[in-house]
Amino acid sequence: MEKQTLFENEVVKEILKKTRVIWALNHASSLMGWDLEVNMPREGVAERGIAAAEIAVLRQKLTLDPELVKLVEKAEGVIDDLNDYEKGVVRVLKREIRIAKSLPPKLVEEYTRLTREARMKWREAKVKDKYEVFKPYLAKIIEYNRKIADYLGYEEHPYDALLDLREEGLRTRDVENIFTVLEPGIKKVLDKVLSESLFPTEHELEKQKYDLDAMERVNEEILRILNYPLGVRGRLDVSAHPFTISLGIRDVRITTRYEGFDFKRSLFAVIHEFGHALYELQIDERLMATPIAGGVSAGMHESQSRFWENIVGRSKQFTEAIYSKLVEHLDFLKKYSPNDLYYYFNTVRPSLIRVEADEVTYNLHILLRFKLEKMMLMGEVKVDELPELWNSEMERLLGVKPKTYREGLLQDIHWSGGLGGFPGYTLGNIIAAQVKHYMEKEMGEIYEYVEKLDFKPLQEYLREKIHRWGSTYAPKELLMKSFGEEMNPKYFLNYLEAKYLGR
Ligand code: MG
Repeated sequence: MEKQTLFENEVVKEILKKTRVIWALNHASSLMGWDLEVNMPREGVAERGIAAAEIAVLRQKLTLDPELVKLVEKAEGVIDDLNDYEKGVVRVLKREIRIAKSLPPKLVEEYTRLTREARMKWREAKVKDKYEVFKPYLAKIIEYNRKIADYLGYEEHPYDALLDLREEGLRTRDVENIFTVLEPGIKKVLDKVLSESLFPTEHELEKQKYDLDAMERVNEEILRILNYPLGVRGRLDVSAHPFTISLGIRDVRITTRYEGFDFKRSLFAVIHEFGHALYELQIDERLMATPIAGGVSAGMHESQSRFWENIVGRSKQFTEAIYSKLVEHLDFLKKYSPNDLYYYFNTVRPSLIRVEADEVTYNLHILLRFKLEKMMLMGEVKVDELPELWNSEMERLLGVKPKTYREGLLQDIHWSGGLGGFPGYTLGNIIAAQVKHYMEKEMGEIYEYVEKLDFKPLQEYLREKIHRWGSTYAPKELLMKSFGEEMNPKYFLNYLEAKYLGR
């Protein structure tokens, strides 16, 4: 490990002494979160909830410790003397303090309780396919989100305040601008793919059963190919919903699921989570245990997972290169060619469920949610009118209409925890394509590396441009610094057209 410190300023050093314990609490919370999803017996949930809430309160208290607040203000006074890492520490803490200070403790407590109950009610509502069970909770969550937006403050749009909570500096206008370009561009590609049958809408392998142990070996093999330090600095486990959790730069764990059929779901969950994990694993170790030792935002994180899952993982070159490994473990693949496999990996079909959506249609699912969230927040749609609006928008955007709530507005857990979480997914998709563009400008076609399964050069590039910095720079700042350009959806459309229309 490199010992040389990046932090020289005495005030910042004082700050880091104080935030170390906050980092330790985060470390413990992450481990508890991982355990909850992977290991815990079902009835442990209640006590774990109480313990997690107590730790959250303690963390809040430490963040607002008057001495820490004073030190951060002091560091701000000499901000021009600080290096970029030190400035990053001040920026991140200032933001956390601002958010914590803006929200009255009573509101936070009520909201925490509300969302905890809402989550359970959402589960029940989804199982029973009864919107009525979740509806009153959603109404309350919207009400609270309005209050939260007011307390946090915003310049242009109340939704800005909620967006900023998830994605530092992101504004409603940014997202609107992105979708103004994306919506017609995506629809053009989609129409052509469907009308000319350029890609299949379904594939018989989607029904094919697989052996769980064999699939586990496939996943491990793929992770080795991608240079994931399995068993050394990472683990692969099973959970209901795949996720990545970073306990620290040297302990970044991922999960996947095994449904027993349609093996691409398990495989691409693994590759997706690998992308998240690589980000955390390649952060400069000198940032260890500091407030900037993690990925900078959900959108930037999603760009890394999407880069590996879609741009690399679903490419023809990758499919061909891993074909023999797959056949080795999954017998039933013998009768399919690498090309068959490629089309199985890339079916394009307007469908009801966001998490099963393909690269072409995925962002339309996000557009729907973004639009409804804005309207809900502004009181432009009542919770009673929501199912109808959901259905008509689905029909307008994708040409399909859900018959149940379960495959309609009850499909995602997100609204039980508040609004504003969806746009990050689209940011991820477009930043991933933008990164590919700049990577190729410097290194030539990435698929020349992919076909050789030679990933080190791509990973070095990502380390240099994005990963190593952790949260040193705000998301928009990092894009400008590394690529000299702000978020731009045109690269994503270029990518779609090249891949799906052969341009
Ligand atoms: Mg993800």
